[in-house]
Amino acid sequence: MPDPRRDPLGIEQRALGAYLGLAVGDALGATVEFMTPREIAHHHQLHREIIGGGWLKLKPGMVTDDTEMTLALGDAILARGEVEAHAVATAFSDWMRAKPVDIGATVRRGISQFRRTGEPRVAENPHGAGNGACMRCLPIALLNWRAPEHRLLEDARTQAHVTHNNPQADAGGETVLRMITAALRGDAAERWPGLIAELEQRYPEYATKRRGENPSGWIVETLQAVFQGLETAQNFEEILVDVVNRGGDADTTGAIAGMLAGARYGVDAIPERWRKALDGKVRKACEKQARALLQIAEQRATPLP
Ligand code: MG
Ligand code: MG
Repeated sequence: MPDPRRDPLGIEQRALGAYLGLAVGDALGATVEFMTPREIAHHHQLHREIIGGGWLKLKPGMVTDDTEMTLALGDAILARGEVEAHAVATAFSDWMRAKPVDIGATVRRGISQFRRTGEPRVAENPHGAGNGACMRCLPIALLNWRAPEHRLLEDARTQAHVTHNNPQADAGGETVLRMITAALRGDAAERWPGLIAELEQRYPEYATKRRGENPSGWIVETLQAVFQGLETAQNFEEILVDVVNRGGDADTTGAIAGMLAGARYGVDAIPERWRKALDGKVRKACEKQARALLQIAEQRATPLP
């Protein structure tokens, strides 16, 4: 692992990049969520501006459940100083009570079960391989960016299993988290290909030669589109444009690609027009949470030799 103290970009640039990358990807993708690439081309030629609209009829710069659940998870972690299942489930339940603009079926089921039973973990579900736990995972990466990997993976499962408990989804989500922490340490170029290859070896369904278009909410299709998008360019803007123009669950592919590319290339690599277009409250909440999580991470980290 390279010495994070010698990373020229620095952890704050990367952490802010991940958070604003997530929100920008969500806001950009939401406009074309559930559209096909052909429909997108018909309406937008190439969709590359944050203009709101879409099936949720968003105001320009507004985000959806991907960013909102991330912020709810992050707040629950900051309040406790750790990832605790009951606190996370309570935060998600409070978020659902505030009537979010959208919510996934698996998320709703998990939160409803928690309200009924007080149990903050759902049972393993062979049909629960949605992308809803992965899309909100970013606080776990910031909290553990310098921690031993077993802590990253434990926290990953605790937050995921509040609503999603499925080995295939866990494996995909854990790969994304390991990719983010690698990027936060300045190690993306070297580590990402191996991490993706390891996932494809354990779960061959993730490997495909087909172009990922109209990705559904199934984590496998979501990550196929995201990984292909990450391979198309070495630049934040082109990666996001590639991913969201594949249509389908575009706010979520945008959010996941945005957090990964933001961690890799840093906040200054996000086009200024996109950062400015983002709702001001959302932008500030992301910046504040990123910085606060880095502080806790510092306290939890084993000291560097
Ligand atoms: Mg969404
Ligand atoms: Mg979505």
